[in-house]
Amino acid sequence: MVDRLANSEANSKRIAVVESCFGAAGQPLAIPGRVLIGEGVLTKLCRKKPKARQFFLFNDILVYGNIVIQKKKYNKQHIIPLESVTIDTVPDEGDLRNGWLIKTPTKSFAVYAATATEKSEWMNHIGKCVGDLLQKSGKSPTGEHAAVWVPDSEASVCMRCKKVKFTPVSRRHHCRKCGFVVCGPCSEKKYLLPSQSSKPVRVCEHCYEQLTSVNLQARSDSITRGSKFHSNNLSDDDDDDDSSD
Ligand SMILES: [Zn+2]
Ligand SMILES: [Zn+2]
Repeated sequence: MVDRLANSEANSKRIAVVESCFGAAGQPLAIPGRVLIGEGVLTKLCRKKPKARQFFLFNDILVYGNIVIQKKKYNKQHIIPLESVTIDTVPDEGDLRNGWLIKTPTKSFAVYAATATEKSEWMNHIGKCVGDLLQKSGKSPTGEHAAVWVPDSEASVCMRCKKVKFTPVSRRHHCRKCGFVVCGPCSEKKYLLPSQSSKPVRVCEHCYEQLTSVNLQARSDSITRGSKFHSNNLSDDDDDDDSSD
């Protein structure tokens, strides 16, 4: 099916439309063998709240962006190579229904479809594309993935010490290892998680201890050293902010 569509004119036209909707800020998407499998609006659970995003599933990448004008103009393009994607269903909870996790080594997040049918279509197609890619390359599925961030709204107090209340001054931070919402004092350390960043990233006290003890046991004396830094809650150093996303 995919091979037959790969070079069809209809497929090329569809991909050209996606490219033009993203405009000059987007990446070129037409490459030999790439097929647009499907598209649609999904609700992406962002740090602050759920937001509508336009998603495009190709046979090798998942592309999404912010909707400027429905079906006409998108920006803030993100491209995720499907080979590194793992998906997991999310149980329905309150208004958040028909969801699943899209997990990658660099970034993981939850998305929600409008209906259960749409959810299963998306999950089936993504799963099929990932499976086909891995089969073709002979690689095994990605074992490690970035933590899914707990949304800010789900934590009024630090999820580690359970004492510090969040206020405009006492700000929320996210541990890059467990995804918990934690206070400054509980996340003063940074640790190198190479799949997420070339620089050490914020981790909570709990994860820092786990990471360093595992590391000691492994006698890995190489590059993975944590470094302590001092956070200033009043400053505007909120490196967790994905509001641009
Ligand atoms: Zn705390
Ligand atoms: Zn943690």
